[in-house]
Amino acid sequence: MNNLSTEDIVRKYGFKFSKSLGQNFLIDTSVLQEIVDSAEIDKEDVIVEIGPGVGTLTRELLKNAKLVIAIEVDRDLIPILKRELKEFTNFQLIHMDVLKMDFSSIARDADSVKVVANLPYYLTTPIIIKLLNSHYNFKTFTIMIQQEVGERIAAKPNCKEYGALSVLVQYYCDVELIKKVSPSSFIPRPKVNSIVIKLIKLHKPRVKVKDEKLFFKVVRCAFNMRRKTLWNAVKVLKIPKVYMENAFNMAEIDPKRRGETLSLEEFGKLSDCIYEISLKL
Ligand code: SAM
Repeated sequence: MNNLSTEDIVRKYGFKFSKSLGQNFLIDTSVLQEIVDSAEIDKEDVIVEIGPGVGTLTRELLKNAKLVIAIEVDRDLIPILKRELKEFTNFQLIHMDVLKMDFSSIARDADSVKVVANLPYYLTTPIIIKLLNSHYNFKTFTIMIQQEVGERIAAKPNCKEYGALSVLVQYYCDVELIKKVSPSSFIPRPKVNSIVIKLIKLHKPRVKVKDEKLFFKVVRCAFNMRRKTLWNAVKVLKIPKVYMENAFNMAEIDPKRRGETLSLEEFGKLSDCIYEISLKL
């Protein structure tokens, strides 16, 4: 069985890293094992891997899962992956930009889909948003990302890291911070620290809201102007003053507060009350 290290494979094919594709490949096998362990993969699982690189993590996933579907945009990596992973019959490779991927077409009939990735950092937020907003039916999403983004995702109200991304992810998922990873675990070394986190999809969103689009609109405007009071932030919704006062009263939320102090439940309450008063306009 072929068990070349990441460095061996890079050397063997004379692979040239692309900075613009966020290519920092994992070389630390203990971190690799930690990702596989925390993803809790079993033989019934279909794994979707985003950005397999030269396939070091992919190989470990293949040993444990029923099927691994890997999505890679770099055409130079496609023949390398095909060659290095040729002994696995449970491997499917899709040459595509993950942002163009129609997730509803992948593993449609599988009971248990887990997404695993050492993400290209320049795309972390768009990939997370895409996966969550597409309502893709995955169980867990275990990812290596920039540490600072991981802290923002897990942040609670009243801290500076808490923002629209925290609310979006926590609306759909529980968040576990698994392990901090230093730049020396990659080639080439990234300039930032990294962290492995696990998002566990909730059976239903954390808060029940009357209008999901409005909920996220309220969240976005609250954080777009995070130094302003909620009262000033929601002016962009262009709702007459007296109606908006009514909505804050009904929600029992002081409009002088800032968005970063609101819990998900409070955002839900406020957006529901705005929804109610909008019906009367
Ligand atoms: N999984 C490998 C590892 O752990 O060593 C590589 C991880 S590297 C941080 C990110 C990978 O994502 C690279 O293979 C890169 O080519 C790929 N990638 C970058 N942008 C992508 C995109 N838009 N769609 C799919 N893959 C992408």
